[in-house]
Amino acid sequence: MRVKFWGTRGSIAKPGPDTIRYGGNTSCVEVRSSRGTLIIIDCGTGAQALGQSLLAASPTGIHGRILISHTHWDHIQGLPFFGPLFVPGYEWDIYGPKGLDQSVRETLAGQMQYTYFPVALEQFGATVRYHDLVEGVFEIDDVRITTRYLNHPALTLGYRLEADGATLVYSTDHEPHSRALATGEGQIGGQDEHHAEFLRGADLLLHDAQYTAKEYPAKIGWGHSSAEYAVRIAQHAGVAKIALTHHDPLRDDKSLDQVVETLRASLRSCGSALEVFAAAEGQSIEVEPSLAQGPGKVAATASAGETHARNAINSGHAHGSVALAISDPASTTIFAAAVEAEGIPLRAFSDPWALPGYVKAEPPSIVVLDHSPPHVDGLAICRAIRNGSSANNQANHQADPQRLPVILLADSEDTAAGEAAGVTEWIVRPFSSSYVRTKVRAWILRTACRWVRAPIPRDEESRLSVLKSLHILDTKPEPRFDRITRLAAALFDVPIALISFVDWDRQWCKSCCGLEAGEISRDASFCAHVVHSREIMIVPDTLRDPRFADNPLVTNAPRVRFYAGAPLILDNGKCVGTLCMIDTRVRSLDGSAKNLLQDLRDLALQELQQKS
Ligand SMILES: [Zn+2]
Ligand SMILES: [Zn+2]
Repeated sequence: MRVKFWGTRGSIAKPGPDTIRYGGNTSCVEVRSSRGTLIIIDCGTGAQALGQSLLAASPTGIHGRILISHTHWDHIQGLPFFGPLFVPGYEWDIYGPKGLDQSVRETLAGQMQYTYFPVALEQFGATVRYHDLVEGVFEIDDVRITTRYLNHPALTLGYRLEADGATLVYSTDHEPHSRALATGEGQIGGQDEHHAEFLRGADLLLHDAQYTAKEYPAKIGWGHSSAEYAVRIAQHAGVAKIALTHHDPLRDDKSLDQVVETLRASLRSCGSALEVFAAAEGQSIEVEPSLAQGPGKVAATASAGETHARNAINSGHAHGSVALAISDPASTTIFAAAVEAEGIPLRAFSDPWALPGYVKAEPPSIVVLDHSPPHVDGLAICRAIRNGSSANNQANHQADPQRLPVILLADSEDTAAGEAAGVTEWIVRPFSSSYVRTKVRAWILRTACRWVRAPIPRDEESRLSVLKSLHILDTKPEPRFDRITRLAAALFDVPIALISFVDWDRQWCKSCCGLEAGEISRDASFCAHVVHSREIMIVPDTLRDPRFADNPLVTNAPRVRFYAGAPLILDNGKCVGTLCMIDTRVRSLDGSAKNLLQDLRDLALQELQQKS
C-alpha cells in the first residue's frame, strides 16, 4: 500500500509561513494498493489538491472510494471542492459512520445546503453511492477494512486497512478513555486496551496527536490525544511506525519538530524499535510488512480483525438488538421508547432465564433485565450470560459475552455483588425516559455517559415523609419565597434562581425566578446532588464536569453552564431541597459570595419553618 498525505492539520486549515513544511490543509489521505485500488480517507481541505491531481492523471474518470471518519468540518470541508465528484465518468463510493438518526448522505448534504454552498449534493456529475457503516469488516477489492468507533464528541470511526500483507490504521479523532493516559500517567486498560487491540501490529499507524501532554489538561473532553499518548499506545500495540497527525492549528513547524525530537529521544532511551514522525502534507510512503513481524504479531493482527467479524456495511439497523426482560410495564414502556427512538430493534422476553441462551445464539447490543430478589435473581442471570459462551472463546466482538453491556434494573443497587457478577451498570428506580435514552446511546456507542444521577440519601424514607408533612409540594407561588429568588438573581447577576424541593421522582420548584414554574425528573436534578451531600455545591463549568456534561439541562434549554446550590436543612435535620442559582456562562463564587448564598438560604429556611 502506498500512502500520501494531502492534509495533516486538525480543526481548521492553517496555511502560512509557519506551517509550510507540515502543511496547513485539514485531514485527507490517499491510499493505493499495489493492484491500484484507490481509497481516500477523509475529505478535509486537502482533498481539493488531491482532486486536481486525480483529474490531471485520469481526465475520463476512475472508480474510487472515500472513507469518512466523521463529519466534523475539518474532515469533510474539501468534499464540495473535490473536482472528480463533478465529472461524469467518475464513480465514487462514499462510506461513513451511520448517525443514530440520519444517514451519512443526509449529513453530508447538510453542508451543501443552499445557505452554505451553491451546488447541492444531488448535482454531482459523477456516479456517487453512499454507504452507512457500523463496527465490523468489509472489503473493497483487495483491501480488507475493519471499522471501530473512536472516542470523540461525534460518531467517529477509525479504519484498519489490510492489503498486500501490510496493515495501515487511521485513527483520528480520538481521545484516550482514561484521561490520565493523555498526561502520561496511569495504566492502559479497559476501553483503551480495546483501542490498542484495534491498532495491534500495524505497520503504519496514523494517529491523532493534536496536543502535547502538557497542553492536554486544558483540553479535556475535546476528543483528541496527546502525542505522548499516541506513541505510548502504539508501543503497547506493537506498531512498527507511527505518523502523528491532526496537528493543532497553533503548532508551527518548529515546535512540531521539537515534539517529534522529544518523543524519539524517549523511545531511544527505552530501547524501543517504534519509528515516529509527524505526517507532512505532500509526503508519500510505502506501507510494507515490517521486518519485526513475528508469529506473535501475525496472530495479534488476525485476532484484531476477527474481533469485528460482522459486516460493517449497514443495511437497515445500525446495531444489534436490545434484549429486554423487565416485568413492570411502566419501565418496559420507557425502555422500549428509548430503544425505538434510537432506531434499534427490541427483543422482549417474559422469562429472564431465556436471556443466556438468546445471547449465545443471537448476540444483542445490550441486555437489560430485572433484579428483584427473591423473584428474579438478576445477578445469577448475569453470571450465566457471562459464563454462557466463554467456553467457545468467541472472537466476534458483538458476541463476546464478557464485553456485552448487561444492565440490571432494581429498586436499590448492590455494587459489590454486581461487580462480582459482571454487571455493567445498575439503573435504580425511579428513572426518566431521557435518562434511559442517554444511557442506551452511550452503551451502544461504548462512550462515556457524562451524566451521573445523584445517589439516594440514606434517610430517604423519613426525609420524604418530612417533605410531605410540609404540605408545600404543588402549592401556588408565594411572594415570601419569590422575593428571595428575585434577590438572589439580582445579587449574583444570574438569569435563574430557584427554591425547589427534591421529591421521590422529581425536583419541584416552589419559586422560579427567570424560569417557567414547573418540575424536572430527579435524574436530571442538580439539586438532588446537594440534597444527598447536604453541602453547598458549586459547578463552575458543567461542560467540564463528568457528572453533568451530558445532562439534558446542559445539552438543551436552559443550557445550564454554572450551578450553585445551598441545601435547605430543617431544624429536624432533614434536607428537603435547595436554594440555587443557574447561569448560562462559566462562573465561580468566592468566599464572601458563598456567605451571601448561605444568608439567602437561611431566609428561605425561616419562611419554610414559620408556624402559620
Ligand atoms: Zn478533526
Ligand atoms: Zn472531530
